Amino acid sequence: MQYIASFSGGKDSTAMILKVIELGLPLDRIVFCDTGLEFGEQRNIIRIAERKFKELKPNVEFNWIKPEKTFEEYFYTVNNTGKRKGQIWGWPFMIGAWCNSRLKLKPLNKYFKQVGDHKRYVGIAADEPERYKRLKSNCIAPLYLLGMNECSCLNYIKEKGFRNPMYWKFERLGCYLCPKQSLNSLRSLRRHYPDLWNKMLRMDRDSPVTFKADGTTLEELEKKFKYEDMNTVTNYYPVLVEPRLFASTKQISIFD
Ligand code: SF4
Repeated sequence: MQYIASFSGGKDSTAMILKVIELGLPLDRIVFCDTGLEFGEQRNIIRIAERKFKELKPNVEFNWIKPEKTFEEYFYTVNNTGKRKGQIWGWPFMIGAWCNSRLKLKPLNKYFKQVGDHKRYVGIAADEPERYKRLKSNCIAPLYLLGMNECSCLNYIKEKGFRNPMYWKFERLGCYLCPKQSLNSLRSLRRHYPDLWNKMLRMDRDSPVTFKADGTTLEELEKKFKYEDMNTVTNYYPVLVEPRLFASTKQISIFD
């Protein structure tokens, strides 16, 4: 029987792995699914985390896995049948999004099948009872069982010297082009990563599906944000800052 922790690079799975190691719970592998949609800095942070986890638990394996195709390959796949025949897939629908199943679930399920008999640690926090209720029988949620909510996870990883500067820019981490992210997150993306934003605008022009499920295109959001820039003196960005992660404003590394 192998014990495997799923790692996303975010605060909850980081706290969970640190807790598992601290409590001396069995842990054979850590798995990270690389969707190809992480920010460059976040990829570096994940590499640093891999090194740090191995320092704390030298015999743990850290496995990077990948989906079969990239997001763009799926995005530009042409439908061969149905009423959208001849059209590309474009942006994923927000409910039942094709990206989550193809970029994350499928490669992870394949990996778990190859490993064989195992138990999985998943980073469900104490303030996520609905997710906890849906857990499969071979899954363990240490954070939930320890009563650690998202806030205590942040404080805990801070105490452990794990600080992720990406939380200065984003409330949550995930795929940079995720249509599910909040408007504040998209404002931050546009402001801090103009190249990625412009690439998304090009994809938006090609997509037969609107970026947001309510019919809003990215082009419309671009106009909205541009208008805000021209007319607003106070900006929106301070609400994006996650000050709890930082002891001082000078820190640039997640790890001491
Ligand atoms: S984070 Fe967003 S873009 Fe990434 S797989 Fe999930 S729903 Fe899709």
